[in-house]
Amino acid sequence: MKQNYVINDTNGAKWLSIPELDKIDFIRHSFIIKQRDSGIETNGALKEIAAKILNLEKGQVATINQTHSDAVFVHNAESRASGADEGFDAHITNNIGIALGVVTADCVPVIIVDKAKRVVAAVHAGWRGTAKRIVQKTIKDMADYFGSKPENMVAGIGPAIGQCCYEVDDKVIGPMKKEFGYLERFSIKKNENKWHIDLQLINREQLIETGLKLDNINLISLCTSCYPDMFYSYRRDGTGAGRMMAVVMIK
Ligand SMILES: [Zn+2]
Repeated sequence: MKQNYVINDTNGAKWLSIPELDKIDFIRHSFIIKQRDSGIETNGALKEIAAKILNLEKGQVATINQTHSDAVFVHNAESRASGADEGFDAHITNNIGIALGVVTADCVPVIIVDKAKRVVAAVHAGWRGTAKRIVQKTIKDMADYFGSKPENMVAGIGPAIGQCCYEVDDKVIGPMKKEFGYLERFSIKKNENKWHIDLQLINREQLIETGLKLDNINLISLCTSCYPDMFYSYRRDGTGAGRMMAVVMIK
C-alpha cells in the first residue's frame, strides 16, 4: 500500500492528487478539498471548481443524487451530466470528456480506473455504503458492462474520517460485524457500546477481496476531522458542514 498525495493549487482552487493515478495517461482526477477563501462549498460550487481544475465546462461534470445506497449508475454513450433522480452512490463511464464526481464530508471517496478497457468509476462510501459493499458492486458492474477485470484496475481512496475520530455505536457495528468477518482488524472497542472503525481500510479490504492488487491501491491516509484547515468534516462541523468532491474523467 502506498500513502502518497500531492497538494495542488489551480488558480486558487485547492485539491489533492495521487501520483500513481497521475501516471495513467488517459485520465485526470482530483480530490477537491476545503477552499480556504470561499466558505462552505455546495454541489454547484464544487462543479465549478472541478471544471476549473480539469479545464472543462461545468456541464461536463456529472454528479449523482447520493443517498447512502448501493446503487450504481452506468452512463450510456450520450450521457453528459447528472444521471437520474433516483439515488445512486457510484457511477461508471467509458465516455471521453465527462467527469464523474462524488461529494463527501467524512465518507470515503473511491476512484477506480480500469487501465485495460479504459473505464473509470467514482464511488461514495459512508458506513452504509461500505456495509452494503458498494465498491464491490461497482467493480461487478464495470465487469458486466465493460468487461473490466480487477487485476487491471488501479484505485485511489481519498481523505475520509479516520479511525481516530470515527466513533460508532452498535447500530453501525452490528451490521458491519455481520457483513465482514475481518472487522476486528479494523475496529477498536472503546467501551460497552462504542467502537472506532476504519472505513478506508474496510473499503481497501473489499477491493483486495475482489481481486485488485495491493500495489494498485493508493490511500490518502488523512483524517477529515483532524485537519480542519484542509477538510470539511460532518462529524466535526455538524449539519452545516461544507462538502468536498472526488472527480475522475477520461481525457
Ligand atoms: Zn481524526
